[in-house]
Amino acid sequence: MKSRNKLIVASFAFGAIVAAAPVPVTTQSPQYDLLITGATVVDGTGSPGRRADVAIRGGRILSVGKIDRTAAKEVIDASGLTLAPGFIDVHTHADDIWERPKAENFVRMGVTSIVAGNCGSSASDIAAAFDRAAQTPASVNFATLIGHNTVRRAVMGTADRAPSAGELQKMKALVWKGMADGAVGLSTGLQYVPGTYSKTPEIIDLARVAANAGGLYASHMRNEGTALEASVEEALRIGEAAGARVQISHLKVDSPRRWGASGKALALIDAARKRRQEVEADQYAYTAASSSLGIRFPSWALEGGQTKISERLNDAATWGRIKGEIKELLAERGLQDLSFAKIASYRADPSLNGLSMADAAGKLKGSTTADAQLETARDMMLAGGASMVYHFMSDEDVHRIMKHPFVGFASDSGVLVPGAGVPHPRGYGNNARVLGEYVRVRKVITLPEAIRKMTSLPANHFRFKDRGVIKEGYAADIVLFDANTVTDAATFEQPHAYATGIPYVLVNGVVVVKNGAHTGATPGALLRSVAPR
Ligand SMILES: [Zn+2]
Repeated sequence: MKSRNKLIVASFAFGAIVAAAPVPVTTQSPQYDLLITGATVVDGTGSPGRRADVAIRGGRILSVGKIDRTAAKEVIDASGLTLAPGFIDVHTHADDIWERPKAENFVRMGVTSIVAGNCGSSASDIAAAFDRAAQTPASVNFATLIGHNTVRRAVMGTADRAPSAGELQKMKALVWKGMADGAVGLSTGLQYVPGTYSKTPEIIDLARVAANAGGLYASHMRNEGTALEASVEEALRIGEAAGARVQISHLKVDSPRRWGASGKALALIDAARKRRQEVEADQYAYTAASSSLGIRFPSWALEGGQTKISERLNDAATWGRIKGEIKELLAERGLQDLSFAKIASYRADPSLNGLSMADAAGKLKGSTTADAQLETARDMMLAGGASMVYHFMSDEDVHRIMKHPFVGFASDSGVLVPGAGVPHPRGYGNNARVLGEYVRVRKVITLPEAIRKMTSLPANHFRFKDRGVIKEGYAADIVLFDANTVTDAATFEQPHAYATGIPYVLVNGVVVVKNGAHTGATPGALLRSVAPR
């Protein structure tokens, strides 16, 4: 690998983390800061578990094997528990990590590193974001992508057209700056304004800038249902033309009419990998998604910001046209109305949070018909929109995607505030749900495979070069869980519940979760890419 792809680590909790060389034994001081004994080590490579002790010093794993416990300052007896590398969540929206630095929903499900800036939306100034993150250290390691939507909005607003040569040049400069400031790649959100107005060549040009700086291309694709295959092909074409590694975000089949199409999407990924293209994907372990209410509206209706959106919705003829197109979009997907949609967070009237659109229409309009639901959606868009949970996937597709060896797990969540709204439960439960529901109960994949998909797989693809494996010299990001009981507790009805069966989580050798409770420690590091000069 070229040196420009290397990632450096800036610790902001206790000085620079350096790869620790073995320290000679002395009689005066213990050799290890911390020793974890008796656990079954599932090391993240996909190898089966084996009994071993793990010794930590200076934030690094110093030794794995049979280790004398008198050589340690502190010992955690982990008999009966499974020890794995801390989970790496490459698809998050924790862009304001410093606002809630304990990141408790993440660490309590075993996540020790997160990547923000997904779906095209990131901090506009990556250097400033890293500065803020450095001033307020977090409990998890933090990396970010630079978002296409953020860059496009800064240069072109929400214009529904191709960029001029000058605008494209400005966008390229912003992507270059983001990469130079330490972003790990470029993300797109091609179902959202304004990224949805871009064409493939624009994205190729911007992804090439990121690739030249060692970054990857992470894509929330243009369509995840009716045009799933074409959208996967577009992501692959962008990666190929730009010379960028590709991460397909939250891979799914989101339309009942297309259920089963995951096989075709995965076959496209396999064919690209056969051509030696570096492409991977991630998923969350649920049959529901979460997104904006606006995503159900035709993109032309969302151009120009809230004032223009309201003008269109308030004009009877234009609203009639919008409503007709929404119905068509639903019908194409095999959906009759909006009853598959539940309100996650609606600022204008939080009493609707948790209700399906049918129930909300019943409450507000006295009717649950498709028309009443669409009128309710119109009212909600006029009041600023809402975030939603969409129940429209099949178990079969989720399972098939999960079995693919190059699809990892990611939550698509931000740092959550307990009690706020009725968010998708993935932010509290995703990794624990994989280990409990999909490994232990449904046996879709094995435990070592699940761990590999949460650790070394994303670490390699994102070039977090000394994370994701339990190995001498690697960062001591470690999760201890009970493989017999680990489970997600968050449900769609009651999402604000932490995962259980995960008594210990360490980040850079510091205990962040102890006996199932957050210790308050914030030893997270900044994972910055190094761009060429
Ligand atoms: Zn997305």
